[in-house]
Amino acid sequence: MENCIFCAIAEKKISANLVLENETCLAFLDNNPVSPYHTLVIPKVHYENMFDIPKAVLMEVTETIHQVCLLYAEKLGIDSIQIFNNSGPHTAQTVYHLHFHILPRFEKDAIRFEVNIRRDLVEKFPEMLTRLK
Ligand code: AMP
Ligand code: ZN
Repeated sequence: MENCIFCAIAEKKISANLVLENETCLAFLDNNPVSPYHTLVIPKVHYENMFDIPKAVLMEVTETIHQVCLLYAEKLGIDSIQIFNNSGPHTAQTVYHLHFHILPRFEKDAIRFEVNIRRDLVEKFPEMLTRLK
């Protein structure tokens, strides 16, 4: 895909701080890190996000995420990791080439994700689930 920064990384047109590479995916350090070893895992082929990635490719991405987690556990002794993905305009997705963030977490690292718990939604669960049928 033209003008896609992650395609450019996958095609080695621009450099990245590679953590690992396999046949279908790359893992590299996020250049705006929130914590040490903040890592992005991408498929080499361009898909926008969770809505268009084929299941088989997503499974390869997942396997690569797992490899990175095990690598960080083995080499760095990391025992806490958050994994997240932004898919779509109402999230924080800025790069529309599917990627998962791997965020190692450390004691007292002071990273805070602000959320508002919506207890009012609990009474709406039956109606919400009915809409899925
Ligand atoms: P998101 O907000 O989920 O779309 O995340 C995109 C991430 O890509 C951000 O955390 C950026 O810091 C990161 N990013 C963008 N360009 C590069 C790059 N060339 N190398 C490494 N990370 C990048
Ligand atoms: Zn791309």
